[in-house]
Amino acid sequence: MRFSPEDEEFRESVREWLNANLTGEFATLRGTGGPGREHERPGERLAWHRHLAAAGWTCLGWPAEHGGRGATLAQQVIFHEEYARAGAPARVSIVGEELLGPTLIAFGAPEQKRRFLPPIKAVTELWCQGYSEPGAGSDLASVSTRAVRDGGDWVITGQKIWTSGAHEAGWCFVLARTEPGSSRGQGLSYLLVPMDQPGVTVRPIRQLTGTSEFNEVFFDGARTAAANVVGEPGDGWRIAKATLAIERGAAMLGQQVGFRRELDDLINLARRTEAGQDPLLRDRLARAWIGLEVIRDYALDTLVRDEPESPAEASVLKIMWSRWHQALGELAMDVLGAPSVMASGDPYDEWQRLFLFSRADTIYGGSDEIQRNIIASRILPRRGQPGEARP
Ligand SMILES: Cc1cc2nc3c(=O)[nH]c(=O)nc-3n(C[C@H](O)[C@H](O)[C@H](O)COP(=O)(O)OP(=O)(O)OC[C@H]3O[C@@H](n4cnc5c(N)ncnc54)[C@H](O)[C@@H]3O)c2cc1C
Repeated sequence: MRFSPEDEEFRESVREWLNANLTGEFATLRGTGGPGREHERPGERLAWHRHLAAAGWTCLGWPAEHGGRGATLAQQVIFHEEYARAGAPARVSIVGEELLGPTLIAFGAPEQKRRFLPPIKAVTELWCQGYSEPGAGSDLASVSTRAVRDGGDWVITGQKIWTSGAHEAGWCFVLARTEPGSSRGQGLSYLLVPMDQPGVTVRPIRQLTGTSEFNEVFFDGARTAAANVVGEPGDGWRIAKATLAIERGAAMLGQQVGFRRELDDLINLARRTEAGQDPLLRDRLARAWIGLEVIRDYALDTLVRDEPESPAEASVLKIMWSRWHQALGELAMDVLGAPSVMASGDPYDEWQRLFLFSRADTIYGGSDEIQRNIIASRILPRRGQPGEARP
């Protein structure tokens, strides 16, 4: 990917805006939020995200007719790179902005777009993703939460789990079975459900990190208007898969700049400790540096590839970055040495939290094993190599 002079001008304008605005009350938010750290100052990060929105820095890639900036891919990459480089706080409305918004733009009815897109853009309504259930994770088509029509409403009963941000979200997009007796991908619908109602109970799950970013969500006769189904009733599986396929693409490059900051911090830490003298640790730090360069190149290459190639290539990328990040957590523990096993901080310090949270990297967004299945069944055969062996 090459950046044109206009792109570089755009980069300058992002940089200037961030420099001018990450000041005062917002300056102290630098570095807060992010995976495993969502509990950090949520109210202030929400205010910051709304500040971004007011200046037109949310939903960059959405078409202008839907309130976005219609930014090119290069500009989105630049925005996320500069955002991470500035250490700006993690945004609170990623599910709405990056998952539901693009899904509604592609499949939503005009009235749904009018109703739901503006508050996503303004960060006045937060969303969560109600896919996984105790009996339906990797095997998402086993969803058993059901919804039945009652007059002008859908009535929803069932349980979701691992629902990130459900404790803060006003709405949830829920994959539910609306055709009794149907199985697998048949008879599912994609419903938009308000969270603030008597039939919805949210129970936070305490994670390995000691914090609670995700939740169990119970629907017990919860209601949503009949019109709040995206696409046709029964067509939810197609739409749910489309949401999954919507790449975090450009935002993911920003994530890698975040990784770079973590790696730089770790290298600085190693320089100040005995670890910096250990040739084996120095070698691992160098390998981590090289690994991240490789990931960035691969990510850019994947982003600029033709569309049909991208979803499967994204599986390779998911494995690359999740493994890399887990290895970084392990390396951080080794750089810290013996003190790394002593709990410190509240409840852990930054490196311990990175180590603990990165265990989830190879699970969320589709586990490593599932990504490997996708590579075996879709990428290898396309390259003339033998695909997955099936009994
Ligand atoms: C931090 C975090 C945030 C999350 N946020 C959300 C969210 O907001 N909304 C939401 O809906 N979900 C969310 N999830 C859930 C996530 O999508 C699931 O955890 C994931 O899809 C795996 O499902 P599972 O946990 O049920 O594990 P299972 O599907 O039970 O898998 C257990 C193990 O078996 C392996 N396995 C399963 N099937 C196969 C197979 N066919 N071939 C080979 N191996 C297999 C898996 O790889 C895994 O190692 C989140 C998860 C995490 C960790």
